[in-house]
Amino acid sequence: MVAARRLIARFGLVSTEDTNQAETRTAEQRQRTIAQLEGRLERRRADSRMSVLGAGSDDLEAGRAYLAKLADGGWIVPGWPTEHGGLGLAGPEAAGVRSALSAFEAPDLYPWMVGIDLIGPTILEHGSDDQKRRWLPGIRTGREIWCQMFSEPDAGSDLAGLKSRARRDGEGWRVSGSKVWTSRAHYSDWGLLLARFDFSVPKHRGIVAFGLNMRSEGVTVRPLVQMNRDAHFNEVFLDDVWIPDRDRIDQPGQGWRVALTCLTFERGALGGGLGVQEEQIRRLGSLIGATDAVDRNEWVARLAEFQIAGWTAGRAEAARKSGRPPGPEDSGSKLRGTAMIKRLASLGMRVEGPAATVGTDDPDEWQSLFLMSPSLSIRGGTDEIQRNILGERVLGLPPEPRVDKDRPFGEASGGDDPLK
Ligand SMILES: Cc1cc2nc3c(=O)[nH]c(=O)nc-3n(C[C@H](O)[C@H](O)[C@H](O)COP(=O)(O)OP(=O)(O)OC[C@H]3O[C@@H](n4cnc5c(N)ncnc54)[C@H](O)[C@@H]3O)c2cc1C
Repeated sequence: MVAARRLIARFGLVSTEDTNQAETRTAEQRQRTIAQLEGRLERRRADSRMSVLGAGSDDLEAGRAYLAKLADGGWIVPGWPTEHGGLGLAGPEAAGVRSALSAFEAPDLYPWMVGIDLIGPTILEHGSDDQKRRWLPGIRTGREIWCQMFSEPDAGSDLAGLKSRARRDGEGWRVSGSKVWTSRAHYSDWGLLLARFDFSVPKHRGIVAFGLNMRSEGVTVRPLVQMNRDAHFNEVFLDDVWIPDRDRIDQPGQGWRVALTCLTFERGALGGGLGVQEEQIRRLGSLIGATDAVDRNEWVARLAEFQIAGWTAGRAEAARKSGRPPGPEDSGSKLRGTAMIKRLASLGMRVEGPAATVGTDDPDEWQSLFLMSPSLSIRGGTDEIQRNILGERVLGLPPEPRVDKDRPFGEASGGDDPLK
């Protein structure tokens, strides 16, 4: 850890002194928060199972009960402003709150994470006051689950090429189209939906964003089953669904900006360690024999990477809080976080041996993490797309040819405006 800290200081990312101070502030906030939560939550037992993103216990009652216990304190959303139920914290202090929560028993909160980590912060940035009042309390307290309705069968990496159509209808809009890979849509109450309202302008400019009530007439959700047996995501069909204009987020034409904000939060969250806990990695270390130098060496490298990912996420959060617009650093963070989790999960499988393969009696869920880890190279934008962003925006490499960038979408996509 000392070596990692020196390396970071040497490359001028942050000084050793800053790092020491940040760690002290995190530790102090952790202690303060643990004292506040004592009696409200149950202390974590040594043999409790860790919950792994996407492993999907689907135990909604346990998650709701846990979030309700924390609803009045802001601990679940430490970075949100106090007027919206958060603690107004950033960087080391926010990390201290998260670290304190890991000292207590917690169910799998993945169903809520899209709302809490991605969509809530996006609404804070782009939502109207009315939308913040209506939607943020439900997200923060766990009463309402949100999903992200971006990808379509022909629009994944090229998300701006989406074709779901929105047309004005009186006091609202009518939306038709289909979405795919919509995580947890089968029990979501709301979705952050992107649709195209103008086919006569280039693709990025014709998009509008909505909060979609998933119980609306015309919404059909079909679950898809994946290789770890989790029914994680869905196809969603929208058949002339009516959405009131008060649920439109930001201006028509600003939908792409809304999407980028949400994706930045998603990449930041995926890069920051994904809910894997330091103690989980430390427990893995205790299983490695003192004489197994190769595994020990690798384990130390993984622990250092994990720590660095946490600091990087903290710095990005603090920068955002100080008003700096989101930049390409979240792409780098996501790439490194993805590689780290894959290597860590492989190490976990190797160290636990046959027990991990069978998948029973493994409180740290290395098997689930291992089976889930390939998906990290895809969700939130693939590794290749993150490398394109870094190549163009950080390294200044020539941009990819984009023949459709400045042409009206209807013409570039080979069809006329279907709304005419
Ligand atoms: C576990 C999981 C959860 C997800 N949850 C959601 C969700 O909740 N909501 C949602 O909207 N979406 C979700 N997605 C979808 C995800 O965002 C898309 O799968 C992803 O953006 C890639 O799009 P695609 O699958 O259409 O692949 P494609 O875009 O068809 O890409 C196929 C391959 O081509 C490569 N490629 C494409 N374009 C380029 C290029 N320009 N340069 C270099 N390589 C390129 C890609 O990297 C990839 O390897 C989820 C995906 C997964 C795996």
